[in-house]
Amino acid sequence: MDVRVGDVLEMKKNHPCGSRTFLVLRSGIDFRLQCSGCGREMMVPRVKIEKNIRKIRRPEGENGHA
Ligand SMILES: [Zn+2]
Repeated sequence: MDVRVGDVLEMKKNHPCGSRTFLVLRSGIDFRLQCSGCGREMMVPRVKIEKNIRKIRRPEGENGHA
């Protein structure tokens, strides 16, 4: 799965704050994500992210629907 910095990930699971979209701040083996709802940042292993992605929103790209 191709996830890039700047993408917004729509996850299957909600964050405790109720938001389900996360901005990608850093990608690699671990991802650094920022919750769009509460602004909290977290490091999450790539495998865990990939299982939970529902949709990738990319402002200018083939997947995007901006
Ligand atoms: Zn949150």
